[in-house]
Amino acid sequence: MDRVQSFIKSIVLWELWKGLSVTLRNFFRPAITIIYPEEKTPQSVRFRGLHALRRYPNGEERCIACKLCEAVCPALAITIESDVGEDGTRRTTRFDIDLFKCVYCGFCEEACPVDAIVETRIHEYHMESAGENIMTKDKLLAIGDKFEAMISADKAADAQYK
Ligand code: SF4
Ligand code: SF4
Repeated sequence: MDRVQSFIKSIVLWELWKGLSVTLRNFFRPAITIIYPEEKTPQSVRFRGLHALRRYPNGEERCIACKLCEAVCPALAITIESDVGEDGTRRTTRFDIDLFKCVYCGFCEEACPVDAIVETRIHEYHMESAGENIMTKDKLLAIGDKFEAMISADKAADAQYK
């Protein structure tokens, strides 16, 4: 009986019509794809993208060179050197993050006692030449300065879920 059924199905191209019916069903449904970059999907305030170093509103660097982020980084992506400044505070003289090593785990941000290092929502970036994967302190501070409004708004929104 099975063989007869199978024979009839092959004669009437059963499997083909079955496949086409799926195509037809989905043909009139709204598209679930988006046209990037004109359209974008919603993004969580906890999205972990490009790093930044933040300052206090008076312009002072938040980072106190405790090196907790460097110690906790599982990818050994962070390199910090520090010294004591003229005002007696400890400051980083070098703060590099190797984006090729980074796994965007967010541990550095979680470990930081002063909210200095953060991972922003920025994910649209690229490198054009060798060495651009190293985010230096100047580059990290510049990102922090530029996107501070977005960073602090995301931090405030995130705090509501804690
Ligand atoms: S996000 Fe994770 S892997 Fe990247 S620098 Fe921070 S701790 Fe290291
Ligand atoms: S970014 Fe934060 S955790 Fe890393 S050295 Fe500076 S203060 Fe410490």
